[in-house]
Amino acid sequence: MSLYGYDSADAATNCICDLRSDTLTKPSVGMRQAMMSAPLGDDVYGEDPTVARLEQELAARLGKEAAMFFPTGTQSNLAAVMAHCGRGDEVIVGDRYHLYCDEAAGVSVLAGVSMMPVNTAEDGGLDADGIVAALKVDDPHYPRSRLLSLENSVGGRVVSSDRIKAGIDVARKADLATHLDGARFFNAIIELGCDAPHLAAPFDTISVCLSKGLGAPSGSVLVGPQAMMAQLKRNRKILGGAMRQSGVLAAAGLFALEHHLPQLAQDHVRAASLASALRHTGLGDVSSQTNMVFLTPRAEDHPGLIRHMAEAGIKIGGQSPAIRMVLHRDVDDAALDAAITAFRAFEPGH
Ligand SMILES: *Cc1c(COP(=O)(O)O)cnc(C)c1O
Repeated sequence: MSLYGYDSADAATNCICDLRSDTLTKPSVGMRQAMMSAPLGDDVYGEDPTVARLEQELAARLGKEAAMFFPTGTQSNLAAVMAHCGRGDEVIVGDRYHLYCDEAAGVSVLAGVSMMPVNTAEDGGLDADGIVAALKVDDPHYPRSRLLSLENSVGGRVVSSDRIKAGIDVARKADLATHLDGARFFNAIIELGCDAPHLAAPFDTISVCLSKGLGAPSGSVLVGPQAMMAQLKRNRKILGGAMRQSGVLAAAGLFALEHHLPQLAQDHVRAASLASALRHTGLGDVSSQTNMVFLTPRAEDHPGLIRHMAEAGIKIGGQSPAIRMVLHRDVDDAALDAAITAFRAFEPGH
């Protein structure tokens, strides 16, 4: 068993429905065609028209000046932190956020930036009081508080604009820069019912993943002020992320924005119907928002449930105590029905 709950050897076999993550989406036929036919150039020379178009498109959608394409969201977050902070500076971040938990502490390892974790509240947000308590006074004993990095959505949950504003206000008062890890930015927009510039406005920089529910094979776009782009380009080069004919990937991103984004809300609808079906089974506590569903079965049922679902060809996150299920564009209604049927057929104690 790997961290993700399955050996890679059985990853491709006997799978009817894969709910482990929205990163598992494969490029659609139309996306592959768009990748094939994209005009290309060497982006390190600034000559890839498709990359330039993707960057302009994301900047415009979020109401910001400029943007930069990165191979991954991890690198985009890291390049942003490096642009906001120097060595010995500190970023305040949620203790459940991806930057703190799931990026191998790259900001510390590679950028000499320390992370100050703040309790992540039930809604995925950070309390303004917690941010204030994490701020450090200017004293040679301490790293310099320089950046507040928030996340939205957080484990499928969305943080409201008011909540974000409260945190941003205290950060601004302390002269901190602000970054949003918006890997699932568009899922948050849909759930909050606001427009993209509204959610982006409080932040200096925002990182948006194209490779989650949007279905591109790879890539994130970091959006922010024009004045930061030269430094970001340098950071991306330092981190090994300056790519050549990356328009092949950018084309997938552009296709995703035009054709997949309008369908993203369907994942939320399917997540809600999976959650509702699970509540009726009485298998355990169920929570759901955006495209994710969490089920906490009784501890003694947990291994049996994972095994039962695997035998039925349904892959679910094997985490304990809560099992995570993520709806995405490669799970259609038939696959979802198969998953629900399998859950209903589970007999605890077997
Ligand atoms: C997936 C994800 C990232 C990183 O994206 P990669 O492209 O996999 O490096 C960053 N933050 C959050 C919240 C994510 O879900």
